[in-house]
Amino acid sequence: MNEGGEGEGESEGIGRPAPRPLTHLAQAGRRAEWTSMPGQPGGIVNPPVWRASTILYDDVAHLKAASGRDPHERLFYGRKGTPTAWSLADALTSMEPGAKGTMLFPSGVAAIACSLMAVLKPGDQLLMVDAAYDPTRGFCERMLKPLGIETIYYDPTIGADIAALFTDRTKAIFLESPGSLTFEVQDIPAITALARARDIVTLMDNTWATPLYFQALAKGVDISIVACTKYIVGHSDVMIGSATATPELWPALRSSAYLFGQMTSPDDAWLAARGLRTLGVRLAQHQAGALQVAQWLADRPEVARVLHPALPGCSGHDIWLRDFSGSTGLFTFILNGGGDKARAALIDGLAHFGIGYSWGGFESLALPVDPARYRSATRWEAEGPAIRLHIGLEDPADLITDLDAGLARFRASA
Ligand SMILES: *Cc1c(COP(=O)(O)O)cnc(C)c1O
Repeated sequence: MNEGGEGEGESEGIGRPAPRPLTHLAQAGRRAEWTSMPGQPGGIVNPPVWRASTILYDDVAHLKAASGRDPHERLFYGRKGTPTAWSLADALTSMEPGAKGTMLFPSGVAAIACSLMAVLKPGDQLLMVDAAYDPTRGFCERMLKPLGIETIYYDPTIGADIAALFTDRTKAIFLESPGSLTFEVQDIPAITALARARDIVTLMDNTWATPLYFQALAKGVDISIVACTKYIVGHSDVMIGSATATPELWPALRSSAYLFGQMTSPDDAWLAARGLRTLGVRLAQHQAGALQVAQWLADRPEVARVLHPALPGCSGHDIWLRDFSGSTGLFTFILNGGGDKARAALIDGLAHFGIGYSWGGFESLALPVDPARYRSATRWEAEGPAIRLHIGLEDPADLITDLDAGLARFRASA
């Protein structure tokens, strides 16, 4: 158990090997100081919800001492968090070997924005993957650009050729793997090795795999960002984000988050920590269900292609096999011909799929997506319209029956 909370991921003590990931999920973040009371034996299982703004001190000397020293993970003021948030942050840190700490944010987008602001200043250039989550692109265009920070988009399949884009002003590379909507898998070790050699910071949106299936820092990433709204929470009822950093980047990340006043409510942190306990069983089920549905779709004549990293033929499938320890429930399929109307006919009659944004909950979702609208460095071309599916925890046989009827509606309408 990583009780030190520094997340070094090493085995502790002689003859006591580090627990495997599923064991670790059950134990992470449950330090005795957060689950027990001073002077009393025993303790509760989960760190409780500590709600606070004001922290009261015994006397002026204690007040001064508290503000004088590093207040991280010490009661200081509500905005610095309480043991509820520290416990979640500690658990997330310990899932990324090589990490020093995790900051929590009110959403995944806030985590992305604040992490970029932690490493960039006017005059810098940022290399941004062309398959990035759309609001990440929006932040670059509408916030970074007016600040004099230039964003250069690159092909998600660029790999080691990214070095050709480096200039004296290149300060950071943003990675997202697999890419949003189109699921290209990036060669993260190749890119981070080149970046390190040039002192370029790498940040990765690791929401799809979570640190359970992809340990970003171990692959050379400096800041690993997760929209915990998705799989960490897992129940579609909380917005929360996290950024986990190496010892080198931790001070900049922490101070950026602090200066922007970023924090999360203890109730939301508590729900996310509750979700984390079942992340392993949920992801295994999302993975199995999604593979079953994706393989079924791949054999259908109405379907031109399935974009799922675990299926051979998906861009970067070999890299996924090499670097990831699992796949999750989100993927896209491309229809063979047909237009918007036929796609809507397929989606509209689905009985077991909700129609809506976000993903990562226990419920299945279907979303019409148009990746070409969010590209600038590369051209997205496809045989027909695209649908992104999130495969929830329902029985995949029911989902397949549902999609079968949907494809019949598509044929009738196309
Ligand atoms: C949803 C999502 C985000 C943003 O998370 P929010 O909590 O909704 O702000 C970031 N990256 C990816 C890949 C996402 O799917």
